[in-house]
Amino acid sequence: MPDCLFCKIRDGKIPAKVIHRDDTCLAFDDINPQAPTHVILIPLVHVETVNDLTSEHRELVGHLTVAAAKVAKERGHADGGYRLVMNCNRDAGQTVFHIHLHLLAGRPLLWPPG
Ligand code: AMP
Ligand code: ZN
Repeated sequence: MPDCLFCKIRDGKIPAKVIHRDDTCLAFDDINPQAPTHVILIPLVHVETVNDLTSEHRELVGHLTVAAAKVAKERGHADGGYRLVMNCNRDAGQTVFHIHLHLLAGRPLLWPPG
């Protein structure tokens, strides 16, 4: 998608601090971190929102979660814990319409999240 920020990061047209890349996903540091670790994980394929996921994306979503756990462990958050979040549309505050998983860690995270 030519106007999609995360497609541009995927294609190297916008710089990002890339942490992990494989044949399915890309992980990079959030530009406006909300915790000491705030990593964004995106699928390489463009999917606008969680509403657009179909059964064909099951493996993709699982892949994102496994990759997030790997990054969390590498950053030393396995025992302390972390939060994985996917925002969908207005009420959740989605601002980039290419699905992504937030990995937040490194401080106590409030619940309910607000
Ligand atoms: P969401 O609000 O769930 O759509 O999350 C979008 C996230 O993308 C926010 O946490 C932003 O800080 C982050 N973000 C926006 N632009 C960039 C960028 N150029 N590089 C890295 N992260 C970004
Ligand atoms: Zn995209």
